[in-house]
Amino acid sequence: MEWIIGVLIVAGLLFLLDREIYRYEGIHIGSRLQAFLYDHWSKNYDQAKQVSQQEDEAMLARPLLEKIAGIPVPLVLDVAAGTGRLPFALFNQSEFMGRVIAVDISMGMLEQAHKKLISHHGRFSLMQYRTFPLPFQDETFDVVCCVEALELIGEKQAAVKELARLLRPGGILLTSRGTEDSGRGMVVVSAEMLTALLQDAGFEDVQVTPWWRVFNRVFARKPGTLIPAGGKSLKDVLRCPRCGQVGGFAENESTLQCGHCNRQVKRQSGVVVV
Ligand SMILES: [Zn+2]
Repeated sequence: MEWIIGVLIVAGLLFLLDREIYRYEGIHIGSRLQAFLYDHWSKNYDQAKQVSQQEDEAMLARPLLEKIAGIPVPLVLDVAAGTGRLPFALFNQSEFMGRVIAVDISMGMLEQAHKKLISHHGRFSLMQYRTFPLPFQDETFDVVCCVEALELIGEKQAAVKELARLLRPGGILLTSRGTEDSGRGMVVVSAEMLTALLQDAGFEDVQVTPWWRVFNRVFARKPGTLIPAGGKSLKDVLRCPRCGQVGGFAENESTLQCGHCNRQVKRQSGVVVV
């Protein structure tokens, strides 16, 4: 009898572990395990998700560009950028002349992004960073994106406030909402709740619209009149991990070096590791 109970307990634990890994992508276990999982999945991630470049361009890149049409060289931050789907879709639009800083917890995912974006060298930076707050000062970016990821961040309220902090007044937020069909019932928030969360963080014009079965697309705007960042890149906006000064980094293929305290920030496989 006891062995039957033991087998049932083990089977139950395996079921919960499988569900945590494949449905919730490790959200309840912590960022180190999440990073490990994404590293493991990175090479086949786009294939497994059946990513459609055409859909990304039609549903994300082009609507975003319409909203920032007046900004000549937009500075875009993509949080939880994964394999670089959104920057790739943006760079494929001829009218997009901006730069993208793509941040993710997984080195493996960023290495895939580097391969995908390499032909746009000089217009993007990739950075591995695992915790909030991100090393940028308030109101740095014209656009902040966090697509197909907000639901997998444990502290949603803190995450939304961090996205708002990084955005310039008048800037645009592009994010998403995992739907009730996503199979992630424990972390799904209703469109009304997400709208309230965004408004509480200071956003206005919140638009939650259908995107695909398991995600809604969400746009919002930070109040104010936008004075664009003006063609800056990572070396101009990164906060030094040693002296705390912003910008003034000298950049080469393998490092960024702080012009204030000479601290070197390394770059490996095209990814800056802060
Ligand atoms: Zn420094």
